[in-house]
Amino acid sequence: MPRPLIATIHLDAMQQNLARARACARGAKVWAVVKANAYGHGLERAMRGFADADGLALVEVDYAVRLRELGWSKPILLLEGFFDASDLPVMAQYGLNGSVHCEEQIAMLAAARLPHAIDVHLKMNTGMNRLGFTPDAVAAAYARLRAMPHIGTITLMTHFANADEAAPTRLPLAQQMLRFEAGAASIDAALPRSLCNSAGLLLHHLDSDWVRPGIMLYGGTPSGTSAQAFGLLPTMTLRSSIIGIQDVAAGEVVGYGSRYEAAGNIKVGVVACGYADGYPRHAPEGTPVLVDGVRTELIGRVSMDMLMVDLTHVPGARVGSSVTLWGQGLPIDEVALAAGTIGYELMCALAPRVPVNEA
Ligand SMILES: *Cc1c(COP(=O)(O)O)cnc(C)c1O
Repeated sequence: MPRPLIATIHLDAMQQNLARARACARGAKVWAVVKANAYGHGLERAMRGFADADGLALVEVDYAVRLRELGWSKPILLLEGFFDASDLPVMAQYGLNGSVHCEEQIAMLAAARLPHAIDVHLKMNTGMNRLGFTPDAVAAAYARLRAMPHIGTITLMTHFANADEAAPTRLPLAQQMLRFEAGAASIDAALPRSLCNSAGLLLHHLDSDWVRPGIMLYGGTPSGTSAQAFGLLPTMTLRSSIIGIQDVAAGEVVGYGSRYEAAGNIKVGVVACGYADGYPRHAPEGTPVLVDGVRTELIGRVSMDMLMVDLTHVPGARVGSSVTLWGQGLPIDEVALAAGTIGYELMCALAPRVPVNEA
């Protein structure tokens, strides 16, 4: 029998979360973001779960080609564009749109001879200072692209640093939008635009031509508000079983480093899931876990293949009892919060050795 750990992907929830994104999009077309193996959900599954999207966006050129080979015929956007001149013929051949964010990319485009035109998202750095042209440099970049015969549609794009906060002390979204509008006006304010990630979409009301939701499609929250309150459904449930039980007396310790010491007599359950499966090793005591549907807590350090939970108050728990690490019944964001990270990181870190099924 295989190890009892399994991740279940809920395709219907992916569909419903996409519908939720579309309802927030004020008529904009939706790029479903599927980078990082669709946030750990699997590219091919995402293609089916997001069949209704207007396009798929990702950063991996080889995965973009894979999407075409799998039969995706609608637009595909490379969010970081291309990394090397040799990517350009691939983009033309497979009809991949790409972001253009730096002079070096423009130079590569200028030198390229392509059989078909490619559509681009011209990226503006409106204060995040990650990728993009500053608003005062964007018009020159646009003019050079517009003069190239193998460039099709040019869409203006930016990315928000703090769309998840209502009143950030630094770089509020409104400030980024002012810079974006100034950059756009220096070219043509009527150019198509691509603006929001999940947080922008859920918490702000901006008009644009394209939106780029990621985490909300996977039922994770981009902010402090729960995913459930945003009407989002979990799309990945990670389940395992209890594979061993120990009765531990007061004063005894549990696991590597003996981090946990039992204050009283307790019952400890051993779960087949560890950091080599993608469960965060730094999860502290108290991180929530469900056993037979009852909420209990992690105790002791997470090991490579196992972790331990307190079964003292889970009546009837036995070897074989079902354990939910996150997903339906236990929001991934609660586990992430306890472990000092975000739902994004947990999903993306699901290890290749974990078998995946669909429901
Ligand atoms: C990852 C990414 C997104 C999606 O962000 P979420 O917070 O997951 O919605 C959107 N745009 C760009 C450029 C990205 O890299």
